[in-house]
Amino acid sequence: LLQRQAEHESNARSYPRNLPFAIARGEGSFLVDVDGNSYVDFLMGAGVLPLGHSHPELVDVAARQLGVFAHGLDMPTEVKDEFTAVHLGLLPDAMRADGYKIHFCGPTGANTVDAAIKLAKTATGRREIMAFRGGFHGTTHLAMSLTGLLDQREPVANTVPGVHFAPYSHCSRCPLGLERSTCQVNCAATIETQLRDVNGGMLPPAAVILELVQGEGGVIPAEPEFVHRVAAAAREAGALLIVDEVQTGCGRTGTWLAFEQYGIEPDIICLSKALSGIGTPLGIIIYRSEFDTWAPGAHTGTFRGNQLGFAAGIETVRIFERDDILDNVQRRAAQVRRIFEPLEALPHVRQVRGLGLMWGIELQDPETGAPEGSLARIVQRRAVELGLIVERGGRQDCVVRILPALNVTAEVIDAACGLLAELVESCVDTTPL
Ligand code: PMP
Repeated sequence: LLQRQAEHESNARSYPRNLPFAIARGEGSFLVDVDGNSYVDFLMGAGVLPLGHSHPELVDVAARQLGVFAHGLDMPTEVKDEFTAVHLGLLPDAMRADGYKIHFCGPTGANTVDAAIKLAKTATGRREIMAFRGGFHGTTHLAMSLTGLLDQREPVANTVPGVHFAPYSHCSRCPLGLERSTCQVNCAATIETQLRDVNGGMLPPAAVILELVQGEGGVIPAEPEFVHRVAAAAREAGALLIVDEVQTGCGRTGTWLAFEQYGIEPDIICLSKALSGIGTPLGIIIYRSEFDTWAPGAHTGTFRGNQLGFAAGIETVRIFERDDILDNVQRRAAQVRRIFEPLEALPHVRQVRGLGLMWGIELQDPETGAPEGSLARIVQRRAVELGLIVERGGRQDCVVRILPALNVTAEVIDAACGLLAELVESCVDTTPL
């Protein structure tokens, strides 16, 4: 099977190239291969399975919905109605009082980003957008144009005009040598100037699009003061604040939505990945009602809502509340921090960063301090050989990243993060791959 996979790889690439096994099934935090070996899955379909693989209650609900009415469209059904009410009900009280609406977009995260930008342009009548260095928003032409992760964007020619990049990503390698907190605050001052300096080139933008933790960019949480100042500067410039919560949303950071921890009220929120709870693609934007400026039919498409996703998504929220999943995220996050933070003493570890159950360990050349993708590759490869699946990200893929299921147990965190810490410690002594 592996040989066949390798042969077919050139015709149909799979997401993690070179995963040296074939998956038979998933169970909770584990994947099982065709030979019956188990792996701890700390990738979780790139964060799409908040309650792990094949959660029995979600399987039941989805199967039932499949037999009742399954459809790719957001047709008016009870289940759609309930999904909408549940998600608007999860917004902070002040936002519910202000009035927000949901628009069902195409199924992927990038589709929600495209919709958010389009809505901001319609609502403001403006064209320019401010995005951030190190940010990642997807691979449609527009979402890629907003992506400031240069390794990903640079090979793409002819990106969309009118996108301006502001600094945010360099906190672990601040050109001014500042610590993360002061570095981001310093960046905020630059952004304020950029947004005010209308005559200096940038027209007042329609929107500022921000990740509260840059995920693909290497797990870089934004500092609260940075976020407050960016939000205030956007408001002053009349630009809508879009938070891309495709990765941080649905409980990943320990609150249902990450922006709740920052005390801001975004104008538009992008949600996708974990929204259905079962990996069935679903994408929405939640936006302030006053910006409800699209004429009916202005933003349509075949797969924009999904009855299966609605049913499983409602059940996911019910399980979150019943099992106090957000509390689990916070407890497990504290545990991960305790295991990973001592690694910062190692000369080849630049920084350990995370929020909730989104963590990254940035590796560097111990002599020069340059980002070290090959060390991260050794760690990832050794981890999979020993039964743990992790991801990489950031510049030159030098950050080893984890996105465990949000109902992961203390035992699994201890064992898997302990193993990862050992691999990070010993990777400099290993022959490069
Ligand atoms: N925004 C963010 C913050 C993401 O992390 C991702 C995916 N990693 C996307 C957008 C794009 O989502 P999709 O791959 O579903 O288009």
